[in-house]
Amino acid sequence: MDGKIPRNLLDILFEGVYFVDQDRRVTYWSKGAERITGYQEQEVLGLRCRDSILMHVDERGKDACDRSCLIADTIRDGGERQAELYLLHKGGHRVPVSIRVAPIAEPGGRIVGAMEVFSDNLTEESTARLIQDLRDMALLDPMTELGNRRYLEMHLEARLKEMDRYGWSFGVLFADIDFFKYINDTHGHDVGDRVLKMVGRTLQNSVRSFDIVGRWGGEEFLAVIANVNEDHLSSIARKLCHLVGKSSFTEGKDTIRVTVSIGATLVRPDDTAETLVKRADRSLYRSKAAGRNRFTIGGDE
Ligand code: GH3
Ligand code: MG
Ligand code: MG
Repeated sequence: MDGKIPRNLLDILFEGVYFVDQDRRVTYWSKGAERITGYQEQEVLGLRCRDSILMHVDERGKDACDRSCLIADTIRDGGERQAELYLLHKGGHRVPVSIRVAPIAEPGGRIVGAMEVFSDNLTEESTARLIQDLRDMALLDPMTELGNRRYLEMHLEARLKEMDRYGWSFGVLFADIDFFKYINDTHGHDVGDRVLKMVGRTLQNSVRSFDIVGRWGGEEFLAVIANVNEDHLSSIARKLCHLVGKSSFTEGKDTIRVTVSIGATLVRPDDTAETLVKRADRSLYRSKAAGRNRFTIGGDE
């Protein structure tokens, strides 16, 4: 059932992903799901989603499976659903998660199961583990401790596959530090490196836990933003410009501060990772030409 999306692509996502069949029995459990819940795939395969594992509750502690199971509803009517709930970790504690459920249909359209994608708010501990995982897979940029370009490309491929299959939209933000060469020339390469770390961290902290920020190369960063429309993508781009502009550290008598220019674009149905990033890059170029420290959304118009 999960044959259309290669496992390693789903396993690379920060989010947890699992598939259930019509009986609501788990047929696939991603690495992200293992990270967030503490349950290994072999512990949950074949179990029904409400048998002992997970048992989502809402913020008042009400059992969300009893009242109406999002997955059962989706299998019944084919609709997508979203919710903010708390799942039960294997260790016994509750974990706040943002959940999306989509139907899985056969080519003829008959619904044969459902897929749930859930994301947590990363704690310091899970962030450290994630950094180690990325390092082990050579997907980490060691300086900024963000995902590297290969990681971003793999993530984009996974997102594009999800879009093809489930229609989930996303956007990308391509951010380039303004006049970075001047920082290196004036304050030295080490200060330049500190600026890269500062900007990377600010960008990372300014997006939701299920959005991805990585280092594309040099002084360029790419953010992949899930489930957005143009207005929302614009407001995130604006926020990133503001928050980077408000980041600074002192070096001797100087306060070191930079701005970024951003190119933003929503994915289009015929996009590849390359066409998507190229379009964001053209928007970025327009932000530079228009004076820097700003964002442009669109690309070709
Ligand atoms: P613009 O506003 O047009 O983007 O100007 P800019 O100076 O930021 O762009 P330019 O492409 O001229 O310079 C980018 C500089 O980034 C040049 C390169 O030496 C520096 N750089 C790339 N990677 C690193 C790095 O890892 N550390 C440091 N310190 N500098 C880097
Ligand atoms: Mg550049
Ligand atoms: Mg630059």
